Amino acid sequence: VFAEVFASKDVFTGIYSPKKRLVEFSIKKKNVPGALLAITKVISELKINILSGYVTAYPDEPISMVSFVADLTGLNLSVDEVVKKIQALDVVLDVKYAQPEIEGFMIDCMHFPLLALGEKSILFRLETIKNMFERIYASFGTGSAIIFYEMGIGAGERKARKLISEYELKGLDLLKIVMVERIAKGWGIPEIVHFDDKKCSAIIRVYELFECNIVKDMFNEPTSQFFKGYLKGLLKVIFSKEVEVIETSCVAKGDKYCEFHTK
Ligand SMILES: [Zn+2]
Repeated sequence: VFAEVFASKDVFTGIYSPKKRLVEFSIKKKNVPGALLAITKVISELKINILSGYVTAYPDEPISMVSFVADLTGLNLSVDEVVKKIQALDVVLDVKYAQPEIEGFMIDCMHFPLLALGEKSILFRLETIKNMFERIYASFGTGSAIIFYEMGIGAGERKARKLISEYELKGLDLLKIVMVERIAKGWGIPEIVHFDDKKCSAIIRVYELFECNIVKDMFNEPTSQFFKGYLKGLLKVIFSKEVEVIETSCVAKGDKYCEFHTK
């Protein structure tokens, strides 16, 4: 059902295409309308196919970035000649490129650190997270739950305070932004079912919650610890009051979604 509503998003990491002549370009350009078009026009005239990449332009900044992996298979030009053509555009300030260590396996090696909403971030595969959780439970037993729960509380509280200080958000607006950001960051697809500021009560439903999805249909009871704590920390700041959060439905016990209620 989500495949109809949501398209997946590949964070630009690289391209694997054996036997292809792959090149990664990283271009600094003027942050003006038409700059991207001018660059892609040069590329398309050379019949180069752009495979994957990203564009970052912050409003009011004079310089923006575009980077992509392109397929130069069959092109009778050196990469330096292609660079020269792009560099000749008046909207282009600088062009760098990289070629793969192993043919056809172009991993982005030109950009660091990784930023999400301007903040330094790292990516873990969900499989790695699952293994980390399993190792901690195997080593420390049922007490591990409290570790994840406490981690969640701290993260939720800090998130709420950050949005208050940086964006002056509060109440339902703050909750909405944090929830929709969970979609952007791949945590799951939350839905605010109920929110009452005065009664300090809320119901949050989450489809595809990462933490419970990795143990889908494997338990008889709700399993979320981290996200449950995250909501507790978040709502504590939003309501300026301690609230208990319980998980009433969970994909780990075969439900369609995880649902969290304040108490
Ligand atoms: Zn759950």
